Amino acid sequence: MKKTAFIGLGIMGSKMAANMIKKGTPLTVYNRTKGPAEELVKLGAVSAESGFDAVRDADIVFSMLSNPAVVKEVFWGAAGWLSAMKRGAIWVDCSTVNPSFSREAAGEAAKFGIRFIDAPVAGSKLAAENAEIVFAAGGSEEDIREIEPYCRQMGQKIMHIGETGQGSAYKMLVNAMLAQSMVVFGETVLLGEKMGISRDFLLEVLPNLPVIAPFTKAKTEMIKTGNYDVQFPLEHMYKDLHLAALSAFEHDQPVYMANLAKEIYAGAANSGMGRMDFSAVFSYLEGKQRK
Ligand code: NAP
Repeated sequence: MKKTAFIGLGIMGSKMAANMIKKGTPLTVYNRTKGPAEELVKLGAVSAESGFDAVRDADIVFSMLSNPAVVKEVFWGAAGWLSAMKRGAIWVDCSTVNPSFSREAAGEAAKFGIRFIDAPVAGSKLAAENAEIVFAAGGSEEDIREIEPYCRQMGQKIMHIGETGQGSAYKMLVNAMLAQSMVVFGETVLLGEKMGISRDFLLEVLPNLPVIAPFTKAKTEMIKTGNYDVQFPLEHMYKDLHLAALSAFEHDQPVYMANLAKEIYAGAANSGMGRMDFSAVFSYLEGKQRK
């Protein structure tokens, strides 16, 4: 059996790693703050003292970190964990980052003889808990086959989208649509209400119409109760829209709506909603700012 390590035990990483352990994979884990690693030790994980120690002997390293700056900092920036990894090992970055960044990461990994796969995931906290996430991978067919058994412990399947960076590119498209759909839904409900239609009626009926994204149904309870306990942090949605805008610039493709949505999420994040679920953008549109 290959030696595996998991770095980054936040909302998603903690659940993904737990599923690998529950399904029998011996796992070394590391997180910047200790608490989440200690929880996984109770399930049978080995908690490494440092990122260096976590990756040193691993054949496969999964990472699930906040954003490109953090991934860079720990793998080839100040912390430099890539230098500790075994030649021939595979680094699977599941963080949502932009495609050109994934290609840069692959280039840095190659300097140390390390293979790289970008494998961001679709599905939020609950899907991660229930091993229902879907990986979208960029990289070589052969490398992806090698990590597939582990991805299937954490999720439903792994889709091979294309060469390095294409997993990240696909994920970026999905999240740009998700972010915009949430704003469209929020504005529609708020306008409907102003015109005298009840919020409960709108929340019940609109998500079932073919003109709106079906995921909105899963957000109606949060809107009703005003309890936006985090599943997908709003600050990460803002980051994803920024990365989509950056990618659009790199490809000389205008994305008017994504840029507009980005600024709405920027305002929400700035008003203290960054660590709420991204559906709290509804509350921001409603004018309930938190600062
Ligand atoms: P999260 O709860 O914010 O976790 C972020 C992780 O990054 C934590 O382990 C955190 O460590 C670590 N980290 C942050 N800054 C660091 C630094 N400077 N050095 C070392 N480690 C650092 O995020 P998440 O929701 O799990 O998401 C992780 C990634 O998956 C993001 O790219 C996100 O966009 C993507 N994603 C999220 C969801 C979702 O629904 N939540 C779904 C799909 C994809 P600490 O615990 O020490 O802060």
